[in-house]
Amino acid sequence: MKAIVFQQHGDPTVLHYTDAPEPHLRSNEVLVRVRACALNHLDLWVRRGLPGVAIPLPHIPGSDISGEIAATGSDVTTVSLGQKVVLAPGVTCAKCPACLSGNDNHCREFTNLGYKIDGGCAEFVRCPEVNCMPYPENLEWAQAAAIPLVFQTAWHMLVNRAQLQPGDDVLILAAGSGVGSAAIQIAKFFGARVIATAGSEAKLAKARELGADETINHSTAPIAKEVRRITDGRGVNVVFEHVGKATWDDCVKSLSIGGRLVTCGATTGYDANLDLRFLFTRQLSILGSYMGTKNELRTVLKLVAQGRLKPVVDKVLPLQECAAAHAYLEQGQQFGKVVLTVP
Ligand SMILES: [Zn+2]
Repeated sequence: MKAIVFQQHGDPTVLHYTDAPEPHLRSNEVLVRVRACALNHLDLWVRRGLPGVAIPLPHIPGSDISGEIAATGSDVTTVSLGQKVVLAPGVTCAKCPACLSGNDNHCREFTNLGYKIDGGCAEFVRCPEVNCMPYPENLEWAQAAAIPLVFQTAWHMLVNRAQLQPGDDVLILAAGSGVGSAAIQIAKFFGARVIATAGSEAKLAKARELGADETINHSTAPIAKEVRRITDGRGVNVVFEHVGKATWDDCVKSLSIGGRLVTCGATTGYDANLDLRFLFTRQLSILGSYMGTKNELRTVLKLVAQGRLKPVVDKVLPLQECAAAHAYLEQGQQFGKVVLTVP
């Protein structure tokens, strides 16, 4: 089969469109003919190499996949040949207490398609049957692939970790990112008031189109000060964070008394500071979040099929142009997802 393969870590030039062996199925797995694969920041980290994380080489990246069932293992009973599917990115043991309780993103063997195992930047990918999710028939292949990772991550952060309530004020960082554009929609769905940040007026206009009530241009205005102005000095109930060191102080200062900050990333650096006096006197909650559960993704896909949550696609390119897509994502000019299609 044709696939994007890298033999060593490095810049986008390590990504090659080449021949790779077709995956061998286990009895509980399916083979999926990939139609589209969306990129995430995770793809950039995996390609560059992460300290302390061994990525098996050669490697096929890509976590967010839509396609059709091309073959099934002997134990597979819930999907059939030719069926359209969206794949849950998280692959887990399916046997441990975490998996059995539905908290599969707590599984100690958790990985993503395209992370420590081969992914969807290829004509075919294999995955466990339980990762096959119902396909929202109102979506094109590229739109469907733009859903899983960012929507399940944003859902888990806001709904599970931060316990978002109707009427809450929510600050959403980097509205132009995939996870930010998903978070705006989910927060609005739950009846929150959304304050979104981005670095350009064009991105802020798109954030308002998605439902943001207030916007802050973080390249011209200090975030915490603007949040205080918008909330009459109170601060927000929830901060949705994934930027890291560059915005951390502003995010903590933007919280109201009893506020919750939830974070899923540290794109600009991980060694942030926290003034403990501020933490206890203002009774803040600092919450970590990682990916989401398969069941949360099922809920998201139901709402997508009803048209209540929508994928935000910035750019669609053919699989062969994966390296150019990585370079584009690294520039940070996109609003929403960059998706590769496999004709
Ligand atoms: Zn498990």
